[in-house]
Amino acid sequence: MAIDTVGIIGAGTMGSGIAQACAQAGIGVTMQDIDDAATARGVKAITGSLDRLVRKGTIDEAKKAEMIARVRTTTRTDDLGACDLIVEAATENETLKERILRNVDAIARPGTIIATNTSSISITKLAAALKDPQRFVGMHFFNPVPVMALVEIIRGLRTSDETVNAVTALAQRLGKTPIGVKNSAGFVVNRILCPMINEAIFALQEGLASAEEIDAGMKLGCNHPIGPLALCDLIGLDVELAVMQVLYGTFNDPKYRPAPLLQEMVDAGMLGRKTGRGFYSYEK
Ligand code: NAD
Repeated sequence: MAIDTVGIIGAGTMGSGIAQACAQAGIGVTMQDIDDAATARGVKAITGSLDRLVRKGTIDEAKKAEMIARVRTTTRTDDLGACDLIVEAATENETLKERILRNVDAIARPGTIIATNTSSISITKLAAALKDPQRFVGMHFFNPVPVMALVEIIRGLRTSDETVNAVTALAQRLGKTPIGVKNSAGFVVNRILCPMINEAIFALQEGLASAEEIDAGMKLGCNHPIGPLALCDLIGLDVELAVMQVLYGTFNDPKYRPAPLLQEMVDAGMLGRKTGRGFYSYEK
């Protein structure tokens, strides 16, 4: 089952990143979001990222124009009907994702593979929203998508081998390294990473050290390329909170309790880079 056209639901941090990765690999994409402002933000993010590649001499202006031309945008789910693969990359909310998946199911042609980029929600559970759960799979990209090499391919209880093979081949075509993961809340990477970030937030809340010192500690002491709080700003504090809530709710284990400071910062709209302020300030 070859994938030559990709539809993406959500033009945010991840949706625009997945669209860019596809466009760079020569694959045409249609990126859908709720309004023109959201799709325009997605295209702006892609343009900004490709501009950096031009400045570095990795691509020239002509290549950049070709890549941008491969990204079409829409606010109508119907416009994704002809795609071989539709990747759901909207806000991390189970009810919202189920609603989107039911809408996608209604317009997709038979045989279309439907994937979700969820960070934590059960693939088997989301698959239940669809007529054919065999064609549904988790395709978990990492942020920033054009840079990060990993894609977790998550098989739900009823996902077919054909579906897994098709998205694995696509991930490789995008230059990524796919790993197969069993369905479980947070999969592998976020099961380990998000509690570590949450613990860093507890450390900050308890005044063990400043944000800069906590990040320096993990960079210099553990050889991490980025500190956990700076990484949380990159991921989005709302996304980190949503993942911790899913882990806590699923495993019912207090070790996954979201740090109160994380909840408070999300309530304050301090979501990290995307709002200009998180553990650090990005306001120019
Ligand atoms: P984001 O907030 O940057 O973007 C979400 C986008 O979804 C927004 O543009 C929003 O308008 C759109 N959206 C909301 N409702 C919609 C609807 N009904 N139809 C179409 N679009 C809709 O979020 P993000 O960081 O891009 O996260 C998207 C998904 O990717 C989430 O499931 C998240 O858990 C997952 N994810 C995030 C990261 C990360 O580091 N941020 C990494 C891996 C996976």
